[in-house]
Amino acid sequence: MKRKSKLPFYSIPSLIALIAVSYISCSSDDSSTQEEEEEVVTELHAAFAAFNTEAVTIYLDGSKVVIETTGLPNHETVYWGEGHPLYREEPGVQVTPSIMSSNNNASTLTVDATPNLTGSTVSTQLGTVGIAVSGSTIFNDQEGGGPLDQAAASLDWTGAHIGPGVYHYHLEPKAFTDDDDKLVGILLDGVFLYGRKCNATGTYPTDLDASGGHTTATQYTLGEAEYHYHIINELYSNTGSYLAFAGPYQGY
Ligand SMILES: [Zn+2]
Ligand SMILES: [Zn+2]
Repeated sequence: MKRKSKLPFYSIPSLIALIAVSYISCSSDDSSTQEEEEEVVTELHAAFAAFNTEAVTIYLDGSKVVIETTGLPNHETVYWGEGHPLYREEPGVQVTPSIMSSNNNASTLTVDATPNLTGSTVSTQLGTVGIAVSGSTIFNDQEGGGPLDQAAASLDWTGAHIGPGVYHYHLEPKAFTDDDDKLVGILLDGVFLYGRKCNATGTYPTDLDASGGHTTATQYTLGEAEYHYHIINELYSNTGSYLAFAGPYQGY
């Protein structure tokens, strides 16, 4: 695990980590010690280079990664509304309000730079579960607390709609991953989500856990194994497509 081998400090339980921090700060008044602690996480994960820089600003804040986004995607959809350069005609879609009719697409996500992979899981909640490389948000398999089926008719060609509120993906976002190994985005627990195929093998992974996760190298880890999620290669309900992520989180 690349990040863990670089950052052994963060892979131990947080209580012990806290004790270690107090020990360091009590045992030395040298401010360079503090600076070295800050220097531990100075490099953003290489996968962040895949994000749409027109929408997304990403930076480190201590051991956290802050992801600010306008929420506005860099691809076509009916939800841009007629007249917009990225408007796509989609007669089959039962359109909810357009993107530009909503004032609240923007959001900020703060995630751990190193996911806490202890084996315990946390369920996803309604609302944003992650930020996609396009700049828009990812939701889970629920719509307003009910099954997604009821909202399926309003999903556009790339598995997204307005909820109301932010424009968000529920399904495999075909605008930027379509039966391939491309990066989809990052989830709230700091774990990256990839398409249905894995870069390590070039095909559908067969060793995924309940969250769609496994530990292998990806195109962004220089050969080192790292835990990540995939869109699970099973058709979802009446949509004829694949759920982006239904949880649970493994990285909290
Ligand atoms: Zn929705
Ligand atoms: Zn994989």
